[in-house]
Amino acid sequence: MENHSEVVARLRTVFRAGVTIPQEFRLAQLRALLALMEDNEALIVDALNKDLGKPKFEAVLSEIEIVRNDICFAINNLKTWLMPEYVGTNLATKFDDCSIRRTPFGVVLIIGAWNYPLQLILLPLVGAIAAGNCAVLKPSEISQATEQLLANLIPKYLSKECYVVTCGGAEDTKKLLENKFDHIFYTGSQAVARSILRAAADHLTPVTLELGGKCPCLIYGSMDIKITAKRVVWSKYFNCGQSCVAPDYLLCTAETRDALLPAIREALEEFYGPDPQKCQDVGRIVTDKHWNHVMGLLEKSKGRVVIGGESAREEKYIAPTVVVDVDGSDSLMQEEIFGPVLPIITLETVEEAIDFVNARDNQAPLALYAFSDTQKVLSQVFDNTRSGGFCSNDGIVHMTLPTLPFGGVGASGMGCYHGWWSYDTFSHKRACVFRGFGLERVGAFRYPPYSDSNLSWLRWATTTKKSSCSVM
Ligand code: NAD
Repeated sequence: MENHSEVVARLRTVFRAGVTIPQEFRLAQLRALLALMEDNEALIVDALNKDLGKPKFEAVLSEIEIVRNDICFAINNLKTWLMPEYVGTNLATKFDDCSIRRTPFGVVLIIGAWNYPLQLILLPLVGAIAAGNCAVLKPSEISQATEQLLANLIPKYLSKECYVVTCGGAEDTKKLLENKFDHIFYTGSQAVARSILRAAADHLTPVTLELGGKCPCLIYGSMDIKITAKRVVWSKYFNCGQSCVAPDYLLCTAETRDALLPAIREALEEFYGPDPQKCQDVGRIVTDKHWNHVMGLLEKSKGRVVIGGESAREEKYIAPTVVVDVDGSDSLMQEEIFGPVLPIITLETVEEAIDFVNARDNQAPLALYAFSDTQKVLSQVFDNTRSGGFCSNDGIVHMTLPTLPFGGVGASGMGCYHGWWSYDTFSHKRACVFRGFGLERVGAFRYPPYSDSNLSWLRWATTTKKSSCSVM
């Protein structure tokens, strides 16, 4: 069997031979990826169910459809994406062909996490293929059924010459990272991201990091409390709370909390029945270790469990849980919860809530949510916070659009993807001036011997006008 360096060397040879460059090749690979999704839906649903007890509905919506849509979006737009992006010129370059050409990096590495184990490998892959790269794919070993499925299916559908799945855990990935890649796209925790960056630094490899963080949800002013509760419950407990964009904690007044709690109870009962443990629509925590971690945070919390709290270790089950009387020093507020536990923190004004979020800059949120039917409140939250993405009066939905970039800010990540943004992420933006040999008399103003009059002419010909945003 080939070792990592042999795989990377083989892909680099193929890349240099130009195999991945033609538009027809990229389209054929994207169509093959679409066929993989369409032919194997049942196997995918089954693997995700084995890994995370993921209900079919959630698997189709958040892993299959999102990937299918992104592939179709790329197929439909690739021709336009591959066109040069012409830029403004100045007098000195007026007759040149000045454009940005997006060119592939070469051999890229895509490392995925376990919570959306299919999506987190295949969505970046769409961008890598569209941009003309070869790719090594490293799915999470924790979601083992999906890892194995990807390892089986990818070589059956895509070019084995250009795309390789490699399986393994942390130690194996560290060895893989000793090789030089031309771009690394990593999804996972902030802790591991640091070692990815260190490994990338050795080769000066550019990196995209899609990380986690605590996503706050601010609920202020007046609003439809029942709809708010339903949307919070849906976005929090989807995938058993193991979503990087799940609302991690709520901030609201004591009065709103008291109105919200019965509405959350009602929404939970409506969604999952009287006993969520028996409900097919409630997923499971991925491993015993992760179950222990979430339960540990809950047990250490000084808050009061007012909804849920039940658990079953042998099933890796944790009931949808709400905890009140939580403050910023609580165990539930030190790190991303990544499970079905929702703390509510009461602060009496939206200004205090904004300060609370901003005081946790090391937790710069991947997504931030604000619920209110007062535009002023929504604007206040939006204008005075920062986050990777923002959605008002709902959760998660902003990440379903291939037309919006998806990514973090600060500690929640760097770079973005989805749709055109994935293509852009996996492309080098090559600044090109195609010029001929004409107009040498004009060009000659720059040559020595230098003179003040030539300098004045050049300044005039190359200066960006103060009053205009275009070059000329
Ligand atoms: P994980 O444990 O599956 O690790 C992610 C990947 O890193 C895996 O492929 C794993 O094999 C590899 N890995 C683990 N340790 C390593 C090491 N020491 N060196 C090199 N590679 C190593 O997943 P995780 O890290 O537990 O993922 C959960 C985190 O991912 C959460 O914080 C979540 O918010 C975040 N996340 C972010 C996004 C996003 O799009 N921003 C999406 C999903 C998950």
